[in-house]
Amino acid sequence: IVKVESISKSFGAVRVLEDVSFNVNKGSVVAIIGRSGSGKSTALRCIDRLETVDSGRIEVCGHSITSPKLDLQQLRRDVGIVFQSYNLFPHMTVEQNIMLAPRLVLKGAKAELRERAHKVLAQVGLAEKADAYPSQLSGGQQQRVAIARSLAMAPQLMLFDEVTSALDPELTGEVLRVMEKLAADGMTMILVTHEMAFARKVADEIIFMHRGKVWEQGPGSMLDAPQTEELRQFVGSGL
Ligand code: ATP
Ligand code: MG
Repeated sequence: IVKVESISKSFGAVRVLEDVSFNVNKGSVVAIIGRSGSGKSTALRCIDRLETVDSGRIEVCGHSITSPKLDLQQLRRDVGIVFQSYNLFPHMTVEQNIMLAPRLVLKGAKAELRERAHKVLAQVGLAEKADAYPSQLSGGQQQRVAIARSLAMAPQLMLFDEVTSALDPELTGEVLRVMEKLAADGMTMILVTHEMAFARKVADEIIFMHRGKVWEQGPGSMLDAPQTEELRQFVGSGL
């Protein structure tokens, strides 16, 4: 469902991604790990065309991201992305936040959209918060609403960029549990995370990035037996 072929990207003179390739199969979970600045977010953003690549090819859900003929709107419909910051609209209720994009893009009857909003809210365990405003929710709850908002578009692929790094440890768990459930339900996911235990538990494959390259790649067990000094150090540093 995702094919990244030999992409490279520079910001000015700085090479941020160098010859990065990987695939993601439908229904699988890939975790991208690595030090700060190794290019994890940039790689993720290229997949959703929030950044353009200098060279290489990317295919996502049947869209050729690197083609000039890309239908960006359809891509945004097929791919959900959640960031560290939740970016909910403060003046709208949870339900209104969730219904906003579906209303604009998917159209459909209001009752139908509302039903969908309640379904995705239930998925993230917040069915009773539909009428709350973001400011009335904890950080973990707001992040779960942000995830629900993405799910409301019925994406084929979900991207998560360090969605728990702004949260206290006790709130991190509830968000991770939502993601784990999504994975168990068969959602295809790529997640950038510093939660190593979570990556090992949920990911079918782990990609360790270092200096803009895919340095090591394999199942969770690769963390127990790093092939490179860089991954050994990274695992050892507890990051
Ligand atoms: P972190 O763990 O801190 O989030 P990361 O692995 O996600 O790091 P990226 O955000 O992909 O790293 O950044 C990789 C490199 O690209 C960094 O050196 C960063 O400074 C640089 N970079 C990222 N975005 C831009 C930009 N828009 N303009 C210039 N440089 C950028
Ligand atoms: Mg990042």
